[in-house]
Amino acid sequence: MKPLSLLTVSSELPEALAPLRDLALNLRWTWRRQAADLFRSLDPHAFVESGENPLAMLSQVPAGRLAEAAHDEAFLARMRSEMGDLGTYVGSGRWFQRTVPGAQGHGEGSTIAYFSMEFGITPTLPIYSGGLGILAGDHLKSASDLGVPLVAVGLLYQWGYFSQSLDRSGWQQEEYRLNDPSQLPVEPVREADGEQLTVSVTLPGGREVTIAVWVATVGRVPLLLLDTNLEVNDEAGRAITDRLYGGDHEHRIVQEIVLGIGGVRAVEAFSALTGAPAPTVFHLNEGHAGFSGLERVGRLMQGGAGFAESVAQVRAGTVFTTHTPVPAGIDRFDASQLRGHLDADESGISRLIPSLPVEAALALGIEEGGDVFNMAQLGFRIAQRANGVARLHGAVSRGMFQDLYPGFDVPEVPIGSVTNGVHRRTWTSAHMDDLYKKALGDVDISSLQDWSALSTLTDHELTETRDALRADLVTMARRHVKESWLRRGADEAELAWTDHILDPRALTIGFARRVSTYKRLTLMLSDPERLRRILLDEERPVQIVVAGKSHPADRPGKEFLQQLVQFADDHGVRHRIAFLPDYDIRMASVLIAGSDVWLNNPIRPEEASGTSGMKAVLNGSLTFSVSDGWWDEMRDDEAGWTIPTAEVEDQGQRDRIEAEALYEILEQSIVPLFYERDARGMQRGWMTKVRSSLVKIAPRITAARMVRDYVTDLYLPAARAASAFTADPALAGEFTAWKETIQREWHAVAVRGAELEGADGGAVRTGAEITLRADVELGALRDTDVLVEAVLGEIGPGDEIIEPQLIPLQREEDGRWVARFALTAPGRVGCTVRVTPQHPVLASRAELGLVTTA
Ligand SMILES: *Cc1c(COP(=O)(O)O)cnc(C)c1O
Repeated sequence: MKPLSLLTVSSELPEALAPLRDLALNLRWTWRRQAADLFRSLDPHAFVESGENPLAMLSQVPAGRLAEAAHDEAFLARMRSEMGDLGTYVGSGRWFQRTVPGAQGHGEGSTIAYFSMEFGITPTLPIYSGGLGILAGDHLKSASDLGVPLVAVGLLYQWGYFSQSLDRSGWQQEEYRLNDPSQLPVEPVREADGEQLTVSVTLPGGREVTIAVWVATVGRVPLLLLDTNLEVNDEAGRAITDRLYGGDHEHRIVQEIVLGIGGVRAVEAFSALTGAPAPTVFHLNEGHAGFSGLERVGRLMQGGAGFAESVAQVRAGTVFTTHTPVPAGIDRFDASQLRGHLDADESGISRLIPSLPVEAALALGIEEGGDVFNMAQLGFRIAQRANGVARLHGAVSRGMFQDLYPGFDVPEVPIGSVTNGVHRRTWTSAHMDDLYKKALGDVDISSLQDWSALSTLTDHELTETRDALRADLVTMARRHVKESWLRRGADEAELAWTDHILDPRALTIGFARRVSTYKRLTLMLSDPERLRRILLDEERPVQIVVAGKSHPADRPGKEFLQQLVQFADDHGVRHRIAFLPDYDIRMASVLIAGSDVWLNNPIRPEEASGTSGMKAVLNGSLTFSVSDGWWDEMRDDEAGWTIPTAEVEDQGQRDRIEAEALYEILEQSIVPLFYERDARGMQRGWMTKVRSSLVKIAPRITAARMVRDYVTDLYLPAARAASAFTADPALAGEFTAWKETIQREWHAVAVRGAELEGADGGAVRTGAEITLRADVELGALRDTDVLVEAVLGEIGPGDEIIEPQLIPLQREEDGRWVARFALTAPGRVGCTVRVTPQHPVLASRAELGLVTTA
């Protein structure tokens, strides 16, 4: 019988339980176990059925159970206690208020607007694909824990990122799920009249697209989510926020217009509505929101400022984080396509961003040659402060973008680094969290920097925890492998073997991340026979659990995946190696925590940071990694193992050498250490290493540390720089005029006749005073316009001065510029003199791209 119509029946929440809705709508429950447990205990079945989605489950709990809970004093007390805790958490001053002068009043002072194309906070809000999004989610959670006044902006997609399954041959299958807004933990932002807040953007041909603004609440941080799927929009307009990273370039540009331009409009409207201060700092997590800078330039110009002044002012308050060391990973658009969108009128002013001169704006991002608009370049031009996401990545980025700062050596390219981190509470298993509490006390760990008390954890405690986590992983893996085979067409009756795969006591290696070629999923398969021997060792077995999605358009990635799956399908090894389809936050938590060793073998230096290895560290899993991303700066033989990088050009040869090292370390070091037991059966050596990793590495890889670094190194300086402009309305004009003078007059700047005194014939003793004198011609410029510096340093290959020390020269009465110094270390040292522009608004010497050397 066919139904006449379909109805969704849901229970009404009794008045006494109304606070549950508020608890479900603040995503803090995702990192507070007691809150999640409260929902679970309301109805364990509905909790699981809803996909552990508290909001969705509330409408699925049978009315009888709700009525019962509404009269259950114990339940109500727990609920009230959670509400009380949330209230305290949201309302009390935290690290930011204690540390930053003038920030005591919660919600006062300057705010940071954080833009990202994706946010991975919880699987119940599927608006992310992987690492970048989860990083953004962790950023918000830690900003909330630390009390950093942040408002975030993203897109609300109608479809989540795909879920992955396999066909019989191991080829990836993709399936997209529709997001049901009523089941998502978001609420409409409402205007005074009760209507949902909307903003709009105008697309070419005068097509106006209306954007509805939703809010997801992440502890104390509001995350504004923009949604174009509205009846007032035409078909194409509604499809703008259809899915993450789907569609062509045109689709991507329009999404980025909505995120960047719509985002600025939404933040502004939200501030006006809530009375919150308008943001002074704008943080662009990757280049996708670069258009926000253009929108802000347009707004200042509307107020009467010139283009250059406006750019200077916008730059002061903007922070740009780049996330990829591979040029192919950067968003690059056809310049003419973008020109079409900016849509100049007869006088060259944009119809999309009122008051913005189109060609001047395009010039910020157009690559040499003129055909390509580069979003990273726009990021560097629109943000005075920029960073990579690990120390090595910062260095690689400086090399990659050196061309934007001609005349400067790579180390001086103004791109710093803030190493990524992961949100501790989110990524620490419950078992392990108990150990943190035991060792560190029940304190706010997010602002605790000394974790040395973790060294008091005993072998016994760690063993119990590690065994439990491994057992949880084995249980999960068995279930997933069975489900996967059912989907691949196997019959339940032939799958009894899946209940016995993997061994809860065997050394377990985890490998899970997006499957893209540079991450080299199949490096471990380089010598399949050797791998088999390692896995199948009778006495000291090794098992590997693998997961990861490949981007739908990445064919080589899918081929890697298929190779791995086909290896794991083999009857001889399928009990020792398993591929789990549909890698996601939830699977990651169990898989990463349960692995004894977390393997990471990208092609150095293509992994910007990597964060899964950090999640492993938090759980007492040991790192086994190429010296890339975060591990390059933290690698430590007492806390993990490093696969050496082969310095050979040929990629195939390099893979073979590095694979050889991988097997060697595994066979010679990792396996023996894992199976070494003392008289009491304890893994003493292993647990010593685990403790080292926890004490030395763990405190450095938290998102709390990362957010504190952002605040100190980037947000506060940016806020100060931006407020200098607002405090002094003449500053932008003065600075711009100064900059024009410098650019016009710089040709006359020259260094003549630098000489060293006290260095006879080029020979000096350490500690002996040397005097450097130089004649510097400045033409029309003043002394205060420039910085004259001695550049001193070791001579590297190519006769270049490497890692130079900079010593300022002062003008003396005779008109010459002088510095006195002594050299402390013996060796060959090069010395020269250079002149760069100097102004309080500049954040780096390379900013104007002007330098004159002797
Ligand atoms: C942590 C995480 C990632 C990112 O892992 P990397 O090591 O940075 O590649 C991707 N997906 C999920 C589900 C994660 O939890």
